[in-house]
Amino acid sequence: MIRKLISRVFQKKSPKKGEPRIFKLKSHGITANQLTPCALKTVKTLQQAGFKAFVVGGAVRDLLLRRKPKDFDVATDADPDEVRHLFRRSRIIGRRFRIVHVMCGPETIEVSTFRTVAVSTNNDSDDRQTDQESGRILRDNVFGSQVEDAMRRDFTINALYYDPVSQEIWDYHNGVADLKAGVMRIIGDPAQRYREDPVRMLRAVRFAAKLGLKLDPAAIRPIRELAELLEDVPAARLFDEMLKLLFSGHAAKSILLLRKKGLHHGLLPTLDVIMEQPMGERFVMLALAKTDQRIGEGKPVSPAYLFAALLWHEVLAAWRQYQTEGEKPVPALHLAMDVVLAAQSEKLAIPHRYDAVMKEIWTMQPRFLQRAGQRPFRLLEHPRFRAAFDFLMMRCESGEVDAEVGRWWEDFQDAGEHERGQMLIKDEAPAAKKRRRRKPKSEGLGVRGEE
Ligand code: ATP
Ligand code: MG
Repeated sequence: MIRKLISRVFQKKSPKKGEPRIFKLKSHGITANQLTPCALKTVKTLQQAGFKAFVVGGAVRDLLLRRKPKDFDVATDADPDEVRHLFRRSRIIGRRFRIVHVMCGPETIEVSTFRTVAVSTNNDSDDRQTDQESGRILRDNVFGSQVEDAMRRDFTINALYYDPVSQEIWDYHNGVADLKAGVMRIIGDPAQRYREDPVRMLRAVRFAAKLGLKLDPAAIRPIRELAELLEDVPAARLFDEMLKLLFSGHAAKSILLLRKKGLHHGLLPTLDVIMEQPMGERFVMLALAKTDQRIGEGKPVSPAYLFAALLWHEVLAAWRQYQTEGEKPVPALHLAMDVVLAAQSEKLAIPHRYDAVMKEIWTMQPRFLQRAGQRPFRLLEHPRFRAAFDFLMMRCESGEVDAEVGRWWEDFQDAGEHERGQMLIKDEAPAAKKRRRRKPKSEGLGVRGEE
């Protein structure tokens, strides 16, 4: 209560319009050597050439949270050509926003010129355009002042500028106080900012989950109503955002947060797919938790593996359906995979380059139930065995497949050649015969009935 009051007083006592609060080293404790040499060099070179230059956005926020920044972005009043000329290893990228990539060794620093943004639906000059009906920004590549640059950013905690030379943080929107209070607040009117760029709704949830911050109620309120605006966002951009959410290291938490707030519905087709399969929910949450765990441990993760998991229960349902209609298990599985992938590529824009690996993981699943003769040995040699086996273990853990199958494969891998020979389940008929003997519904699936 008292903290709230203090913070409210603090909020009101903002500096004159357009002037930032400036925090000195002793109040924030961030030193220049916490930047990478490349980030430091980029800022210094720009400043020595007479330009303003700051580290901005996520890196400042993460350093204040005592987290390791993912990468460093620099904001400057130099235009892209001026930046380009200062750094030998640099290139201008982007058509909509021209930004400069400055490279040192393996590192790339993204340098963007201070920009301004369209401020209202009716502001339709040559330089600033919004879509009249939705309020969406069509162009925001207009250079502006630092104040304007701070204004166009999404959250107060993302509008912090750190100057490693003076070791000051420039805070235009009370981001430091919000960070201390653990709140994520939108700069400006949330509904308007979401209309300008609907992807901000997803960013809000992603950052809240990843950083363990509370989303300001004002930022949550308009989402339900405006979620449908995401439909107009190009699929490729949504897919990029979805990747960031799924591979943030906090995917499970992000998805739960979306659900808790009732935001999942219609927010993103992928999430609908995940949430609308009650039977597969356990499996999907398990896959997300495992992905989070791997990222936390610094291990590599494969998008194809995660997509294969997200879509598995759809494939399973279609597979069953085709078999009920009289297809044999193997062709039925291929039909199911094709139909699910075709639907997803339209809806979710999962690039086709992942299809082959997803299919391999899926088609190997029934083969885990064939444990006689040479089959298990051949499966073990498959280059994708590890991924398919991990996938099988998740199916066991979620209760879809008998845990005994997973244990058998674990033992089989550990066993010596002789032991392996003894482990074979001799009376298990080869797949072709078995298929003929079994009833259509459970043919070759070895899957437990899901109620
Ligand atoms: P991350 O750790 O995920 O990289 P980040 O805050 O650095 O977090 P980026 O997507 O790299 O996020 O964007 C850099 C900065 O650009 C943000 O901090 C924010 O200030 C601004 N920004 C990015 N996307 C938007 C957007 N859609 N609307 C407004 N500002 C944005
Ligand atoms: Mg970033």
